[in-house]
Amino acid sequence: EDVVNRIAAGEIVQRPANALKELMENSLDAKATNIVITVKAGGLKYLQIQDNGTGIRFEDLNIVCERFTTSKLREYDDLQVIGTYGFRGEALASISHIAHLTILTKTDGSKCAYKASYENGKLKGLPKPCAGNNGTQITVEDLFYNVVARKRALRSPNEEYTHIMEVVGGYAIHNSHVGFTLKKFGENTDIKTPINSTTVENIRVIHGNSIARELLEIELKDETLKMSVHGFITNVNYSNRKGTLLLFINHRLVDCVSIRKALDAVYATYLPKNAHSFVYLSIELDPRNVDVNVHPTKHEVQFLYEEQVVERIKCCVESKLISCNS
Ligand code: ADP
Ligand code: MG
Repeated sequence: EDVVNRIAAGEIVQRPANALKELMENSLDAKATNIVITVKAGGLKYLQIQDNGTGIRFEDLNIVCERFTTSKLREYDDLQVIGTYGFRGEALASISHIAHLTILTKTDGSKCAYKASYENGKLKGLPKPCAGNNGTQITVEDLFYNVVARKRALRSPNEEYTHIMEVVGGYAIHNSHVGFTLKKFGENTDIKTPINSTTVENIRVIHGNSIARELLEIELKDETLKMSVHGFITNVNYSNRKGTLLLFINHRLVDCVSIRKALDAVYATYLPKNAHSFVYLSIELDPRNVDVNVHPTKHEVQFLYEEQVVERIKCCVESKLISCNS
């Protein structure tokens, strides 16, 4: 049974950045305003996330790592109107099957913090009372220690760290009211955004002045498609080694091949050769029209009226580029 769980977990968490994304979403669900992430060896050795959110109640500590345990879903019907990131109770369970997981947490009402360690979805011993601030600190050590093939496939800590920078940077831009800090253990911070910052300021902090100077604001509302879009894109005279596409659908960082291709096509028409774009779009769709469950990593999304949605976004970006350059 543990083997089956481990295989399932390995499909949900394919690299440290996937685990971190789930953990950040949990912190955001817990209303954290400050999130500090510390990493060793690209997250393969050590990945810690500290938040100042609601914390986990002592009596819930024995179940948080069981599969399908979630505090975020009462009725199946809620699936239609999920307001929070998590709803399947699978992230912590998965991680506990493929890593050493420790939770240190304190709720506002509790006199002390508690520290609990997990293995294969279960508590290892009783939670220990200890000192700690309100909020939750989750430490993931030796990720994939028991998944030999996965561990072998992820040989470059630097590459894993690059993925981690991308997700943290993305969530920091999208959640500019929350402060994010990312650092390698014992080294200087690589990302630091203040609490109550702005989207543009965080784009500047993370991607640099040359991008921030070029930004054009995108705004789009479509009543019939029940869609609203807000974001920032670089103008056509911006040029950089590497393009960035940050796509959030209903506040979840996702990949959407059809949107990516449509935007690539627009920029290919207007950008000078070898130039690349920066695009950050926050798309809100009626949750009833979005299927976030399509893939275990919840990375690829599917939604209704995809063709129309993509076309609207494409036109909007295109006309912005044209109007600013004519
Ligand atoms: P889900 O997010 O789908 O509910 P998870 O496995 O990600 O499932 O988390 C399980 C539960 O653990 C959550 O429902 C929540 O109650 C609790 N939890 C996890 N992380 C945090 C956190 N950082 N702060 C407060 N509660 C948390
Ligand atoms: Mg979750």
